[in-house]
Amino acid sequence: MSYDLTSLLVVAISSTALFENRAEHDLYLNKTLDDYIDHQISRENEPFAAGAALPLIRALLRLNELTPGRRLVEVVILSNMEPEVGVRVMNSVEHHKLDITRAAFIGGEPVAKYLAAYNVKLFLSRSETDVQEALDCGVAAGLLYDPPARREEDDMKQLRIAFDGDAVIFSDDSERIYQEQGIDAFYRHEKANAENPMSAGPFAAFLHAIAEIQKECRRQGGEAPIRTALVTARSSPAHKRVILTLRAWGIRIDEMFFMGGVSKDQILKQFNPHIFFDDQHAHAGPASEFVPSARVLTPRRPKNPAGGTHG
Ligand SMILES: [Mg+2]
Repeated sequence: MSYDLTSLLVVAISSTALFENRAEHDLYLNKTLDDYIDHQISRENEPFAAGAALPLIRALLRLNELTPGRRLVEVVILSNMEPEVGVRVMNSVEHHKLDITRAAFIGGEPVAKYLAAYNVKLFLSRSETDVQEALDCGVAAGLLYDPPARREEDDMKQLRIAFDGDAVIFSDDSERIYQEQGIDAFYRHEKANAENPMSAGPFAAFLHAIAEIQKECRRQGGEAPIRTALVTARSSPAHKRVILTLRAWGIRIDEMFFMGGVSKDQILKQFNPHIFFDDQHAHAGPASEFVPSARVLTPRRPKNPAGGTHG
């Protein structure tokens, strides 16, 4: 019987996001393909160091310990490296003791077309092209920044994720009013529409999947294995529409910060998430100095089929 991914939270990750192998990537760009492959084969038993997203992946996989005999999360390596290099990547998986058995090495082809086949809910990469194409297909995707220079080896038991609101969890409809008509028009619009739930953004479906796991864990009692935060530049009176939209979706977020123009990075430093998602470099860039961060690009095609169920 085939292994069914549909009921799992499937996260796909590129090998350069999971492991630190940019030196090899430079070789790939500057040497012949044969020289590059020979180099990788000659170092097959030298595992790659941890990459930007490895602490997050470790924390996600730890969720499987909550439900013995049944997995909640599946992580798939989706790499456009050559298959020959796959041996070194999977040796590195074993070295870092990661519970990952599924991988695809597709030799330079775009990865986005395979996301639906794996039922991927979140894709993380260091390739802007791949992240853009994933978002265009309606899959939540983040372009990873370099990890913070001084972060302790992850010993947090709890998976912690922080999200921006507009153009991440929610669509960018309101954001565009702000950009095109200014802050006063934005506040007028959000106040007038406070009772109308916003449309789903690129990360709505992923947040929904996280919220479902949280709900199940709340039913079982015990310590919460996941904690979420929303850190948005909005402030009152634009806060109300955020809270009412999430209520309408049946999603509870543990902490919400309405920053009103105050820099997000110090709040994020305290919340200390495994990952922070924001569509704007002005927020995600400074945050990445303190916490692992990823930028969410604007999907080029309408309109987030992955998040469509939230209306
Ligand atoms: Mg935003």
